[in-house]
Amino acid sequence: MTDSSPRALVATQGHDGPLTHIEHARELKIQHLMRILEVTRLLNATLDPDIQLQMIQDVAIELTETGAASIFLRDSRTGELFFLSALGGGADGEGGGQLLRIPVPIRGSIAGSVATTGEPAVVNDVSQDERHYDGVDAETQFVTRSILAVPLIRRGKIIGTLEVLNKVGGRTFTDDDLELLTMLAAQAAVAIENARLFQQSDLVSEIVHELRTPMTSIIGYTRLLTLGQVPEESKKQFAAVIHREATRLGHMVNDFLDWVRLEAGRVQLAREPVDVVQLVNHTVQVIEPQAQERGIVVGKRVPFESLYVIGDEGRLKQALLNLASNGVKYNRDGGRLDFTVEQVGDSVSISVRDTGIGIPEDSLDRLFQRFYRVPGTEDIVRGTGLGLNITKSLVEAHGGRIAVDSTVGEGATFTVTLPLAEPS
Ligand code: ATP
Ligand code: MG
Repeated sequence: MTDSSPRALVATQGHDGPLTHIEHARELKIQHLMRILEVTRLLNATLDPDIQLQMIQDVAIELTETGAASIFLRDSRTGELFFLSALGGGADGEGGGQLLRIPVPIRGSIAGSVATTGEPAVVNDVSQDERHYDGVDAETQFVTRSILAVPLIRRGKIIGTLEVLNKVGGRTFTDDDLELLTMLAAQAAVAIENARLFQQSDLVSEIVHELRTPMTSIIGYTRLLTLGQVPEESKKQFAAVIHREATRLGHMVNDFLDWVRLEAGRVQLAREPVDVVQLVNHTVQVIEPQAQERGIVVGKRVPFESLYVIGDEGRLKQALLNLASNGVKYNRDGGRLDFTVEQVGDSVSISVRDTGIGIPEDSLDRLFQRFYRVPGTEDIVRGTGLGLNITKSLVEAHGGRIAVDSTVGEGATFTVTLPLAEPS
């Protein structure tokens, strides 16, 4: 990376071969833009502020070749500024992980000055800048030598500061560093604000947020295509991403409609006898082709000819299918997906067990929240995080319950329990 750094390229642009260098610079720029796009997608895919902060830091360090990065956010009520991060894993950093929250004076710190004026700061030697605040260094036992700081601005409001520290090799910051960090900060601010909005939980902003993720990719990649000079191979890749994301938008819209109707209580559930055995048979039929594609064996243990509950057949099928579809999506190739029906007193339990990645314990109680996805899931397979929420609503609307049991790396079992129809 060092040889092809933007600085080296600009410096060596001579008369002997300017075209190659310009091409290199363009290629590098496209690479950086793509990296920012990729991170934007990942950032918007999580609503967990801690994960977001870590991602922003990591990529800031990578793009600017620095030792560490920090994020400062203003408390929107009190206006106070907080240092909100661990040291990054770069050359001079300590290896990230733990998040710290240290108050920082607005006056008397570079971050505070940037968060007040909205002007970036390039400080190649902090010992020469009287604004430098060493309180964070003292707490984190980190030695800051140089700082590049840009404001985090969202809808014209400064919400904080993004800083990178200690350019590797004692070098000074370049214009490219400033440009890249500014671009990253713009995306980071959107993601951070969205996560905040989400925590204040307003239906419309949640939906807009979810739709924005694929939109950002589509807009970004079409933009890259219009930049021109994109190699043929990349064009195909970009087009594939655009197609995939547009398809995903379509699925999301359907899911949302469904979910909004459910939330608004506008779903009229039929109340007719539904045979659970047939329900499971139907689900197995539908899921089998998808399972086969990945060599997953589907099994069924249904020791009854028929077993009735009262409810809406279509909606119950939908609930089971959501579980089955997860059982394939989060399974390993060549794994198993097993359906079991059991009678427990006045109820029937239907369990769907897979042999996939499983669910970490600390995610179990959030699994049924709308839009929740286990961190890291986005890298494995696309989804909106609505399936389980819809399933739970449907099951509960039938007077039933849903439970989950899982061991990470071994698989997960979802069990739906529904009251049996009266024998009469
Ligand atoms: P979709 O809305 O398309 O279903 P999704 O599958 O991400 O998207 P849910 O079905 O609500 O959403 O699941 C929420 C999250 O729970 C998933 O993102 C995944 O992290 C985790 N999860 C669900 N089912 C399983 C499973 N069988 N094994 C492992 N993780 C699972
Ligand atoms: Mg799902």
